[in-house]
Amino acid sequence: MTTSSSGHPLTQLSEDERMFRDTVRQFAEDEIAPLVRRMDEDQHLDAGLVVRLFELGLMGIEIPEEHGGSGGTFFEAVLAVEGISAVDPAVGLLVDVHNTLVVKALARWGNAAQKQKYLPRLAADTVGAYALSEAGAGSDAFALQTRVERRGDSYVLNGRKLWISNAKEAGLFVVFATVDPGAGYKGITAFLVEQGARGFTIGRKEDKLGIRASSTCELIFEECAVPAEQVMGDVGMGYKIAIESLNEGRIGIGAQMLGLAEAAWQHAAKYARERRQFGKAIVEFQAMRFQLAEMATEIEAARLMVYNAARLKDAGLPFRKEAAMCKYFASQVAERVASLAVEVFGGSGFVKDYPVEKLYRDAKIGKIYEGTSFMQLATIAKQTLGDG
Ligand SMILES: Cc1cc2nc3c(=O)[nH]c(=O)nc-3n(C[C@H](O)[C@H](O)[C@H](O)COP(=O)(O)OP(=O)(O)OC[C@H]3O[C@@H](n4cnc5c(N)ncnc54)[C@H](O)[C@@H]3O)c2cc1C
Repeated sequence: MTTSSSGHPLTQLSEDERMFRDTVRQFAEDEIAPLVRRMDEDQHLDAGLVVRLFELGLMGIEIPEEHGGSGGTFFEAVLAVEGISAVDPAVGLLVDVHNTLVVKALARWGNAAQKQKYLPRLAADTVGAYALSEAGAGSDAFALQTRVERRGDSYVLNGRKLWISNAKEAGLFVVFATVDPGAGYKGITAFLVEQGARGFTIGRKEDKLGIRASSTCELIFEECAVPAEQVMGDVGMGYKIAIESLNEGRIGIGAQMLGLAEAAWQHAAKYARERRQFGKAIVEFQAMRFQLAEMATEIEAARLMVYNAARLKDAGLPFRKEAAMCKYFASQVAERVASLAVEVFGGSGFVKDYPVEKLYRDAKIGKIYEGTSFMQLATIAKQTLGDG
């Protein structure tokens, strides 16, 4: 038995969705699982694995077929992030940022020439990164200080970005900078910057608690000139691009945390059946059964919330509140389930011989990136109570 069986219409998958989910999960078990421990220890994503993600179409899920993508739905992207994160949430993040932030932003806000140029590359071999945060601009993202100045046919970027996922692997960066710090959010503009652009360097790589295989780096722009045609959307529209893409992106983080929670539960349930104390399998103790039952219930609730938000998005219905709620709740569930899983394993849960130690470390980030839990609550309060 797994926690994934459910007869609820929201969690009921179509035949295509079920096949897609099973294929992704099988790939993750066969090809990612053997690499997880080494990638975590080395803090490095296996380069061959990234190639495989492209080959399998997992980096172009929503990219239209005419641009070389799979022409799939946002819901499928969410299923992919969930399935991969059940094996390695660090790889899940790579797939998530690429599909739900970078590709989505370009598909929605890029002009025809930008889509023609970059979507085929993002589907084929170029990883995307999304650079909004800075040292002084985290929750208050629009306080960003990276400056951009028009000079002739170019825009010249100066400043530093912090905490940028996929930075080591990425070939294309969506970078947010301001044309006028005095204009507040109205000066913020999004740029498409290629790796290797003159004046653009990748700085320090962070040494992290969890999702260690995912690269998280500083970006440094020093007199980095990008052609004017690399502006995505209009000058001054960057804040809208950031808000709208992060609204969708946080459903992806909900899916990452859902996959993590499912995996932690499955490892714990398996171990509880195998481990014997006081002459019986520990799963036979009611205290153990009830804890696992409680966690299975929370996972089911998280799944309903994540799938609901993704389905609303695909149906073109409002989803902002549901996206914030699903990320807020799924990250709590992931932390709780991973913590319980460590306890179910006893001493064995505290060492690296089993996956639950890593899942526990990986769970923490869900409450921090793409808006901390407090920021999700601020959105939920605004959406439910009004501006107040
Ligand atoms: C591993 C990792 C990967 C990341 N990847 C990316 C990426 O790819 N791209 C990107 O742009 N960014 C990325 N980030 C940045 C991430 O989004 C920020 O860290 C996050 O938004 C929080 O910002 P901060 O770290 O500056 O914390 P702060 O904003 O300084 O928050 C500190 C604490 O204060 C609380 N707080 C702040 N304001 C309020 C308030 N008004 N009311 C109540 N509490 C408040 C917060 O909830 C938090 O608990 C990543 C971060 C990490 C750690």
